[in-house]
Amino acid sequence: MKNRPESRTIEFMAVGSELLTPYFLETNSLYIAEKLQELGWQLSYKTVVSDRLEELKQAIKIARKRSWLILVCGGLGPTDDDRTRRATAEVLGRKLVFNRAILDGIRKRFESRGLRLPASNRRQAYVIEGAEVLENPNGTAPGLWLEDKNRVLVLLPGPPSEFKPMVENLVLPRLEKFGRVRVLRSVIRITGAGESMVEDLIKPVYKVLPPGLQLITLASPADIQIRLEMAIRCRRPEIDEKSFNRVKAKIIRLLGNLVYSSEGQPLESVVGEKLRAGGWTLACAESCSGGLLANRITNIPGSSDYFLEGIVTYSNRSKTRELGIPERLIKDKGAVSEQVARLMAERMRARSGADFALSTTGIAGPGGGSPDKPVGLVYVGLAFASGSAVTRNLFRGSREQVKFQTTQKALDMLRLKLMEIKKEGLPA
Ligand code: AMP
Ligand code: MG
Repeated sequence: MKNRPESRTIEFMAVGSELLTPYFLETNSLYIAEKLQELGWQLSYKTVVSDRLEELKQAIKIARKRSWLILVCGGLGPTDDDRTRRATAEVLGRKLVFNRAILDGIRKRFESRGLRLPASNRRQAYVIEGAEVLENPNGTAPGLWLEDKNRVLVLLPGPPSEFKPMVENLVLPRLEKFGRVRVLRSVIRITGAGESMVEDLIKPVYKVLPPGLQLITLASPADIQIRLEMAIRCRRPEIDEKSFNRVKAKIIRLLGNLVYSSEGQPLESVVGEKLRAGGWTLACAESCSGGLLANRITNIPGSSDYFLEGIVTYSNRSKTRELGIPERLIKDKGAVSEQVARLMAERMRARSGADFALSTTGIAGPGGGSPDKPVGLVYVGLAFASGSAVTRNLFRGSREQVKFQTTQKALDMLRLKLMEIKKEGLPA
């Protein structure tokens, strides 16, 4: 087992001084980690290093000491600060050799656009001695694949539009030969309970976790994920699959209605599927969520099958003009009140002709709170054929987080309503 890739050290290195500033986010590592997962492999290190030759060489030296596979991106461009080729060649003690075919290829790229080859691109035609050239169909910098002393070193261009297809089409097929592991993976998603409550509920599962099954809980406000992962040991895959599925089913049973998805889909997608399956339609009237609810609903392809319309009635005047909420009611109860939330949902349902309408009204903060109406107080309304429901919520966190939790609550109220209807065979 010792020499199998899943038990060896894999390192990713992003080269570029811009990635060490506050202005650029290093994202290629997320892509590579996701792709390695498909092989059942894991990263042990991620390094981000500047374009300075000495620092770059130092980083490559360290990586070579500790890692079997080193995937490097960036610094293969035509400019003077692109030094990955040179640094790697110097660390390995290998020569850089001019490769005419690469230069001709780059020249053709320019000529096909009616341009002449700039002199600076010439440096991209140098190959580290003994390396295999990886073609880059989306840019001028080719990649390099190097094997030495039982180690693999891969150099790839940094721009994600070039990096990703090369990983997918050239690197993964070459890596696969070292041996892939089948991994069982499931993401159970939960809303409507805090992390500690979920932890308490699933406690019995920890006692029966089979060896090798990893359970990771990721919690953010109003959304918890339980990620299950287990590498299949080749001899008896059906035994592993059985115990994996048993654990998964047990978690789902223990959490009951709190689970909105057992295969990782977001809530808006789960609700959308239920609406489509029942042939129902939806509309929404938003105040404090400012359009985020309609945005989330319409992020799902095909949502036009069930989503009719959404309006943002942010001011009191707009609530009165668009939804006919009486000025008097707003004055007496306040725009953030159960009564206003209920009426917003009911009026929106009537106005749109949808089977269901959701409404939101609350105080997203950071200002605007009072002792009896604190920041984070949000009412969410749901209107349906036989009536309406309103929940009073106290959300914590930033303005953005309060807005997200508001939309999560709205979608979840609808999800639970749709489940109830299905179970009892009722009309909306
Ligand atoms: P380079 O290959 O070093 O010329 O990279 C060119 C550009 O690609 C950089 O300016 C970044 O905008 C982008 N880039 C490079 N490396 C990464 C990375 N690891 N993650 C995301 N973007 C990157
Ligand atoms: Mg660069």
